[in-house]
Amino acid sequence: MGIVEHPLGSTNAVETGSRPEIAVENPATGEIIATVPNRSASELAEMAARGRAVQPGWEALGFDGRAEVLTRSQKWLIDNQKRIIETIVSETGKAYEDALLAEIGYTAGAFKFWAKNAPEYLADERIRSASPFVKGRKLVVRYAPVGLVGVIGPWNFPLTNSFGDCIPALAAGNSVILKPSEVTPLTSMLLAEGMRECGLPEDVLQIATGDGTTGAALVELVDFVMFTGSTATGRKVLAEAAKTLTPVGLELGGNDPMIVLADADVDRAANSAAYYAMNNAGQICISVERVYVEAPIYDEFVAKVTENVRGLRQEAPTGPGTIDVGAVIFPPQLAIVQDHIKDAVDKGAKVLVGGGSRSDGGRFIEPTVLVDVDHTMACMREETFGPTLPIMKVESADEAIRLANDSFYGLQASVYSKDLDKAEAVARRIEAGSVCVNDCQVNYTALELPMGGWKDSGLGVRHGAGGIRKYTRSQTILVTKFAFGKKDLHMHPYTAKRTGFLGRLLTFVYGRGRSKS
Ligand code: NAD
Repeated sequence: MGIVEHPLGSTNAVETGSRPEIAVENPATGEIIATVPNRSASELAEMAARGRAVQPGWEALGFDGRAEVLTRSQKWLIDNQKRIIETIVSETGKAYEDALLAEIGYTAGAFKFWAKNAPEYLADERIRSASPFVKGRKLVVRYAPVGLVGVIGPWNFPLTNSFGDCIPALAAGNSVILKPSEVTPLTSMLLAEGMRECGLPEDVLQIATGDGTTGAALVELVDFVMFTGSTATGRKVLAEAAKTLTPVGLELGGNDPMIVLADADVDRAANSAAYYAMNNAGQICISVERVYVEAPIYDEFVAKVTENVRGLRQEAPTGPGTIDVGAVIFPPQLAIVQDHIKDAVDKGAKVLVGGGSRSDGGRFIEPTVLVDVDHTMACMREETFGPTLPIMKVESADEAIRLANDSFYGLQASVYSKDLDKAEAVARRIEAGSVCVNDCQVNYTALELPMGGWKDSGLGVRHGAGGIRKYTRSQTILVTKFAFGKKDLHMHPYTAKRTGFLGRLLTFVYGRGRSKS
């Protein structure tokens, strides 16, 4: 059995005989816990054909029929949460609570949300038009499922970010092929099994385990690609999708700033910064990645964050309440985070807590607080995606906003101040798809709120009406019930008399606006 090079640089794809398989590792212990097939392009093509064959039957069940399966799946998820959390924890090495809250909590809500809201978001819309040429006609926009959706997911939230995006796609009446991260495929496989138990017809949801080559092969086989992952891979997906003009949704990386104004509740801001930088060991696209604090409260804020982070427990998780900060899930991520810490220190930053790492069996980066940081350092301008918190002193809100926007990314941000009007005004000046005032991340739990990145953080949204309409094709229907004759006035042959009449009609309809002098 020989090790083969993984396209992302890790070596977790192993070859067994002539058929490559992928070994799944527990990042907190280094143990190999399973192997899964590395699906080939021809296997994917067969899966796509099966998915397409069953899609019309799934669509024909209607919203109510599909909602029944989704609602049963929600109950199944809650009934089986212990088993699912154990699976998530075993393939991610994250804290039990990170799996419970951000994965089980999110997905249970999502099943219910899309079952309930899909009919409204995708209902036929009756349109009224100002055009005189369609007077008396029935005008309708309807949303038809695209057919076969490909979902490609990352490793940081195997349930929420991989499987979660399948739920609205299914609710809309599509078949789905999910290509989970090669690092964390087991949760998706378990969920697909659960949904089948809940009555999801065979092949409506298929899991294509595999690495980046499997992901790349999926793009040309489907009618919509929902991709969550790094910006670098997102660009490749977009380029591949251009060949077949396949529409894509891209949820990509972030380097999310927190701004703490001088009049903020320092305790709340410090506790938020520490928690939302360190939960899921910082491996969240909407983690607090950097903080800008106004000078008058900087020292107090730093002291409180430092004390908080110093108390965090980090080990291999063994059950609820045993650790606070888990492992580094993806092997190459360890070096990225280490490099960011080293780069900052080499350029003059000070480590107040943490800074160390270990990879003896499990892979861990200590929860780390950095000060004396600036924008020459990678940790302030690139995505670190680890349990690090660089804090920078600023002289004004304007300086904080300028620095917050000094990034290629624009996913999420937060502003802390007791003056809510001022904080909201600051929020509106930040270049990010979502901004919270006196909070972080919780917007993600409100599925009514669109969530998507600006700049290099993505294209399109998940959640809200846009989060399900993207899985459909809109179709406009115009029905002419009553016509004034066998032939309309504008039809051939053109005559001077009728052209004159049509010209006067246009002037009458559009020519009455007064120009402002
Ligand atoms: P990644 O881009 O390395 O991989 C994501 C997925 O793409 C994996 O399943 C991988 O196998 C697949 N892939 C790799 N090459 C491919 C190709 N050429 N064509 C198609 N698919 C390919 O990302 P990752 O390291 O798994 O995840 C971490 C990244 O995800 C971070 O940047 C994080 O910010 C981002 N993320 C974003 C969101 C969001 O909602 N914006 C949520 C979670 C994670």
